[in-house]
Amino acid sequence: MKTRTLPNELTPLRSIRARQKVTEKIENQVHILEKGFIGETWFDQQLENLSLDCLIINDLLLETNNTHYQIDSLLIFRRKIHLFEVKNYEGDYVVNGDRWQSLSSGKEIKNPLLQLTRSESLFRQLLQQLGSNFTVESHLVFINPEFYLYQASPNLPIIFPSQLTRFLNNLRSQSSSLVEKHHALAKKLLSLHIKKSPFSLQPQYSFGEMEKGILCGLCWSGFMKCGNQHKLTCPNCGCWEDKELAVTRSIEEFEQLFPNIKITVSTIFEWCNVIKSKKTIRKILSKNYNLIQSGRSSYYERRN
Ligand SMILES: [Zn+2]
Repeated sequence: MKTRTLPNELTPLRSIRARQKVTEKIENQVHILEKGFIGETWFDQQLENLSLDCLIINDLLLETNNTHYQIDSLLIFRRKIHLFEVKNYEGDYVVNGDRWQSLSSGKEIKNPLLQLTRSESLFRQLLQQLGSNFTVESHLVFINPEFYLYQASPNLPIIFPSQLTRFLNNLRSQSSSLVEKHHALAKKLLSLHIKKSPFSLQPQYSFGEMEKGILCGLCWSGFMKCGNQHKLTCPNCGCWEDKELAVTRSIEEFEQLFPNIKITVSTIFEWCNVIKSKKTIRKILSKNYNLIQSGRSSYYERRN
């Protein structure tokens, strides 16, 4: 019902990281978001392959009692709603009561079960407010086969990689036909979804300080170079992209980073850096944007 898209904050963070120096905290955040996204997408695929008779909502961000919480995957069955928190952790961890620790670094990590319990409780309250009487069951899913958790009690609502297939097959046996009230609830939840994440980190950046060029949309770690007359190529991963598509992509990135800077041929020419003529930029801009005449300072606005 709702497919997962790249986390909202990931695109600008990737872009900022590639164009200027960022703190280690931002580096880590990008890494965590990327890894989490890969894991969640993989889990979506597993669910999809089962063709369960249930409604699936991915990546739901809600607010109940003034508190935000995120649900990686939510499945609506006939009588029950399953909530999933998906983790792509790697390596050895140990759990001691409420404390989770990485064995290699010795560092304590945020207890993912507390996060899950909190989401579940808030979600129950939301259902109550909506007058719904579904039972809620939540699960913490670890999907990386390279993950191991020492001292985990079998009572914890955890699904380990080696248990996932069995768990999913069991889910399939629970699926049964849904009626109008299920669809209505799903629709209601989707309408409550919050698009802008309040969790995002906001690094400092400015147009002047950023390195200019067209970032590769595949590896995000290199600037594209001229390959031939119509295409650009990335020296880092070797991919090729049509010039016009690459420029369009780069303009969108610019708009997302600088919603307050007016789009002009000169600005985009400077931003893309690799395109030799302003004429090409003007041509591409005029395809998707309207030229707003304003004396000597004309600019472009996205055509809706
Ligand atoms: Zn690349």
